[in-house]
Amino acid sequence: MNKATYDVIVIGGGPAGLAAAISAHDNGASVLLIEREARLGGILKQCIHDGFGLLRFGEKLSGPEYAERYIDAFRERKIAAVTLTFVTKIEKDAVGFTVHAVNRNGVTQYRANALVLATGCRERTAKQVFIHGTRPSGVFTAGTAQHFTNLLGQMPTKRCVILGSGDIGLIMARRLTLEGAEVLGVYEAKPTPSGLTRNLHQCLYDYNIPLHLSHTVTRVFGVDRLEGVEISQVDEHMTPIAGTAERVDCDALILSVGLIPENELAQSLFVELDPKTKGPVCDGQCMTSIDGVFSCGNALHVNDLVDYVSENAAVAGAAAAAYTPKQRRWIPVNISENFLYMVPQQLNLARSNKKTAVYFRSRGDYNNSRLSLTVDGKEVFSKHCPFLRPPEMEKLELDFDAMGLCETSDIRFTLELQAEKE
Ligand SMILES: Cc1cc2nc3c(=O)[nH]c(=O)nc-3n(C[C@H](O)[C@H](O)[C@H](O)COP(=O)(O)OP(=O)(O)OC[C@H]3O[C@@H](n4cnc5c(N)ncnc54)[C@H](O)[C@@H]3O)c2cc1C
Repeated sequence: MNKATYDVIVIGGGPAGLAAAISAHDNGASVLLIEREARLGGILKQCIHDGFGLLRFGEKLSGPEYAERYIDAFRERKIAAVTLTFVTKIEKDAVGFTVHAVNRNGVTQYRANALVLATGCRERTAKQVFIHGTRPSGVFTAGTAQHFTNLLGQMPTKRCVILGSGDIGLIMARRLTLEGAEVLGVYEAKPTPSGLTRNLHQCLYDYNIPLHLSHTVTRVFGVDRLEGVEISQVDEHMTPIAGTAERVDCDALILSVGLIPENELAQSLFVELDPKTKGPVCDGQCMTSIDGVFSCGNALHVNDLVDYVSENAAVAGAAAAAYTPKQRRWIPVNISENFLYMVPQQLNLARSNKKTAVYFRSRGDYNNSRLSLTVDGKEVFSKHCPFLRPPEMEKLELDFDAMGLCETSDIRFTLELQAEKE
């Protein structure tokens, strides 16, 4: 079979894939973007509320408006794209990659020198949170409820309970309320909310939707359709407390219990994953542990702002365009225990790390902490962080080239706590 060959193949046509493809093209590469859905834009197609693009464009755009800017830029450049095409398998050999894809025409293969994996993330489902009871209809992930409401124009509920205080659940609490549904409450097993502070205010408090911390759903009722849920208080280990169970009648349970980067393709290539991010371990140019494989956007780690997704994907696209084999000189980026995670986890001394974006989340809610970076025990950077919360991703931009790094350098980020929030 004669295979179409590109310098870079980007898998996924969401905001990450679009930005990566544009950047790879602008850096001189021939590019193919492969998307399994009919339209480009990824999950943004269904995010019709505003708030996207504040950092990137200084404007408050809806998800489709934000995506459209990148789709227009993508089309202006006449970058090759195939939609309704699902990548099923990738093989690596001495000179590049063979990408196997399926579409209405059957099975197709493409060749590339470098790959950008921009496959996004998926939502945790009811099966993954172990709720007892029957299996009636009416249990949706927040993204499915968003798809029904915003794309199909169908209300999935009249009276619902939301489990989990992730951002999509908060956004859907407001959206369903605006569409006339009764949202009885958001129940969160942890003692602190999982969503952004701005979403708590704009989506719950402004609409008088109660948030119940340290509570979870322990059972669902109903045979064909959900008729109610059992809510219980939980202890500090998130174990339900006996005697606290209460039944709440509702026709839907909406789950907003976390997102998981979608990395089956990466795993099939034996890309090393970070157990904390569930995305690939990567360097400052988004290259994974497999030479020539780059990862970006929500496939790399779950971002809370799409602006960061586009920014990080542009780095991946440019690096994929410039990729030549045997250019890895990795040194690890070490972090203290008060960080939940940091990306990148490695720096590649074979490439410039002059303007390297470093993304991190704290492990807990910390007031007045001090972040410092040492190289071989000598402090080279520090920053006062007045307020850190795990749901709010933080970004630093650092010039590692000015730090005189070599293969044996010990790079260490530390977060010292001065006062912890109650
Ligand atoms: C359900 C859901 C709702 C969200 N709602 C909001 C919101 O309201 N507000 C907000 O700020 N953020 C929201 N987000 C976060 C949002 O996902 C990110 O801001 C952004 O869309 C991430 O961009 P991405 O390109 O990394 O991933 P995505 O937008 O998910 O794009 C990934 C693309 O890859 C494609 N793909 C995956 N695997 C393959 C394959 N094997 N072959 C071909 N194509 C493939 C997918 O079809 C998809 O188009 C939501 C996320 C989810 C999962």
